[in-house]
Amino acid sequence: VSTWSHVPAGPPDPILGVTEAFKADKDPRKINLGVGAYRNEHGKPYVLPSVKKAEELINSAKPDKEYLPITGLPEFTKAATKLAYSAESIPYAENTIAVTQSISGTGALRIGGAFLARFYPHAKTIYLPIPSWGNHTPIFRDSGLEVRGYRYFDKKTVGLDFSGLKEDLRNAPEQSIVLLHACAHNPTGVDPTLGQWKEISDLVKEKKLFPFFDMAYQGFASGSTTRDAFAVRHFIKEGHQIALAQSFAKNMGLYGERVGAFSLTTSDPAEKARVDSQLKIVIRPMYSNPPIHGARIAETILNSPELYAQWEDEVKGMADRIISMRDRLYDTLVKDLDTPGEWGHIKSQIGMFSFTGLTPPQTKALAEKAHIYMTADGRISMAGLNNGNIEYFAESVSTAVK
Ligand code: PLP
Repeated sequence: VSTWSHVPAGPPDPILGVTEAFKADKDPRKINLGVGAYRNEHGKPYVLPSVKKAEELINSAKPDKEYLPITGLPEFTKAATKLAYSAESIPYAENTIAVTQSISGTGALRIGGAFLARFYPHAKTIYLPIPSWGNHTPIFRDSGLEVRGYRYFDKKTVGLDFSGLKEDLRNAPEQSIVLLHACAHNPTGVDPTLGQWKEISDLVKEKKLFPFFDMAYQGFASGSTTRDAFAVRHFIKEGHQIALAQSFAKNMGLYGERVGAFSLTTSDPAEKARVDSQLKIVIRPMYSNPPIHGARIAETILNSPELYAQWEDEVKGMADRIISMRDRLYDTLVKDLDTPGEWGHIKSQIGMFSFTGLTPPQTKALAEKAHIYMTADGRISMAGLNNGNIEYFAESVSTAVK
């Protein structure tokens, strides 16, 4: 009998399952709105020109392929913290940010979870928004934290349940860890306003909660890296200590290169050195040290004034294309097709995704009858829409809800 005969089949990944169904569909009108990766106006993956230029620069220097240090490429991690916190922030200026390169955003969250599980001096409970990115729960559970939720999304208004959020954080035990999506909340596309962020910061302070920011979309939400960093920088200005997971998958289109960073703010350089030493001890037995190529690309862009300016334009280009698809989808659904229901959220939501409000039976009907694929919760990746398919998509949605 096989050693593994007792292993039960696990459920398929809900998002990758959508892609499989899409691939199997032979209809030429088919659309995949499941996967969270940017597509250009022709529906194709997009390699940023700034990334291509950085790769040319790197290749022409004929670099070796030696191991990176355990915490990665220092020129990259320094630049990543500058991008998130800003050069003017106190922790950056005073060199008190403990930081490590990570296997993209997922790896940053996992290192953070493992570090908190080992060293967080209070109850190791993390509160996630309901709903949150599907991988958050298994990441933190497998890291050894207890996972709980706070209300975030209001199905009735298709917007933020701000009173529910405040009530749940107020009722959480003091010193709990709270996960916050820094911008472009996934899957809902609903972010707190600047005023609401200030209230959340006050509440986190009052309840002595520990804020862990997941920033997977800096620049990708509004088109401005500064604007998208508002929440993180506001919390820092308010004197919070934070944990931060950064990803360069979306904003540099470096998905498969796996470029990210995890950081913690500390009280002084000596404490930073102690935390850095423990981050190394967490990482060394996990994967020893991170991959080099993507970090070189990101570092080259972030540390070159010309490439940085070009990259900022290109991020804005991606964000603007998505925003223009939101406008066009709204106009087509409401003005051209007189689709029943309230669709204003398509325009007010932000980032890669929109929570359409479509129900599981409607999403099923869209897949079976119109060859349009999305997750069962009605989340669509706005980046999958373009001028060539948006009309067909809007007509199909209109039919599905009528
Ligand atoms: N966090 C959120 C909210 C995300 O949406 C994603 C990607 O979809 C990630 C983290 C991590 O992605 P990656 O590991 O590719 O950087």
